[in-house]
Amino acid sequence: MASELKKLGFQVKEKIGGHGVVGVLKNGPGPTVLIRADMDALPLEEKTGLPYASKARGINAAGNEVNVMHACGHDIHMTVFVGTAQALVKTKNDWKGTLVMVTQPAEENGLGADNMLKDGLFNFAPKPDYAIALHDNSYLPAGTIGYRSGPFMASVDMMDITVFGQGGHGAAPHTTIDPVVLSAEMILAFQTIVSRMINPIDPAVVTVGSIHGGTVHNIIPDDVKMQLTLRSYKPEVRENVIASIRRISEHYAKAAGLPDDKMPRISIREPMTPATVNDANLTARLVGLFRNTFGESKVVETDPYMVGEDFSRFVMPDNSVPIFMFWLGTLAPETIRMAKEKGEQLPSLHSSQFAPVPEPTIKTGVKAMSVAALNLFNQ
Ligand SMILES: [Zn+2]
Ligand SMILES: [Zn+2]
Repeated sequence: MASELKKLGFQVKEKIGGHGVVGVLKNGPGPTVLIRADMDALPLEEKTGLPYASKARGINAAGNEVNVMHACGHDIHMTVFVGTAQALVKTKNDWKGTLVMVTQPAEENGLGADNMLKDGLFNFAPKPDYAIALHDNSYLPAGTIGYRSGPFMASVDMMDITVFGQGGHGAAPHTTIDPVVLSAEMILAFQTIVSRMINPIDPAVVTVGSIHGGTVHNIIPDDVKMQLTLRSYKPEVRENVIASIRRISEHYAKAAGLPDDKMPRISIREPMTPATVNDANLTARLVGLFRNTFGESKVVETDPYMVGEDFSRFVMPDNSVPIFMFWLGTLAPETIRMAKEKGEQLPSLHSSQFAPVPEPTIKTGVKAMSVAALNLFNQ
């Protein structure tokens, strides 16, 4: 990515916050527009059967060698990014301002954007007046754009809980405090947080994605470990969810007869990813532009999702930068029609079967990003 930007005449800085790259192109007085793409892949073996399917291998967080693929389509984002940079350099005489192009690592674990900001991204690049990004979408046809004004993607917290007990013989449960049964009770009680403790109008998700405890059939273990993902839009809903998990965990542990020094240990990974909220004015402006560019029927409003994106960080800590992220359709209309006919689910993002149609997807992405930047430069 750095060499592509250098070739085009950008001032480039590499290795910001890990593998982050930024290119700056100063082209006279005018607004500063930031375009962001992410680069990371996922530990999955690609099963699309395409001739260009990924055969790449990488080292995962646990240090094991695994197959990797761009199951979230970040390769599309990078390709569109390069195409957009080329288009904007080619049309340099038609706009004035400063173009800041950022490719970030580690979007999937929510750390990449934050690492780049903390590592001085904006000591090198000027602070933007607008920040825009796209994400490929696994349900929309190629050639279409999806948008949502306001809340677009949720905030993400990763929580770790260790539930303690008092281990012993599986045949003598009365001499133990069983953390497996206690964890089961807690998990069911967590499911009443969203249904009973949160205003039904406010979206929230509590998912226990991982639970591990014990070694063999006949030992009651000393502890059980759980990993949760928590999603919401409003900060007060997030706080309510976290407080409820703490309260339920502690009181269930007490009810099981555990002493104060064996209360569940709860930790939330820092930093959490804030919700992605599209600026209303910027969204209206660029959606109008997309409608004129691609036609009314190619620009569709979508529901908000509970997935998360650390592009949300480009609003800056003081919330001063209007941001807009939109969906880029990736599928052949034929694929969508056939899935509907057969009543089958289409492969989602993060699926080993996710197979975007490259050319119309990338062309639409480059065109959308380029016209958006030109529009913002030319006020
Ligand atoms: Zn992803
Ligand atoms: Zn992604």
